[in-house]
Amino acid sequence: MFRFSKRSEENLKGVNPALVKVVRRAIELTTVDFMVIEGLRTQERQRQLVRNGTSQTLSSRHLTGHAVDCAPLVKGSIPWNDKSKFKAVSDAMFTAAKELGVKIRWGGDWNENGRSDDEKFYDGPHFELRRQDYP
Ligand SMILES: [Zn+2]
Repeated sequence: MFRFSKRSEENLKGVNPALVKVVRRAIELTTVDFMVIEGLRTQERQRQLVRNGTSQTLSSRHLTGHAVDCAPLVKGSIPWNDKSKFKAVSDAMFTAAKELGVKIRWGGDWNENGRSDDEKFYDGPHFELRRQDYP
């Protein structure tokens, strides 16, 4: 079983409690270690991310604490090019969410069809609460 680093704990501050619960359960279930790289985001940072192309929206769910970025960790670093590791984190997140009755959406499958290869903007570490349930 894995545990969060201090940095991951810090990054959960200000995140919606329902989503925090999911993340905490997911770290107990996951087969691949992961870290919370970002949670709550300021307007200024969001504008910067849009400017440099890292994000595509100014109405990000991060601004309201409804999103977290969880990246897999292999030997202490993030395997950015290995989508299978991001998928493993996503499996843990969805199992946890289902268990807790929380509806989430993954940036690796925006259209929610169970596939990542048809995404125009693959965002592997991104998880958010569904707008329908958490406006
Ligand atoms: Zn994100």
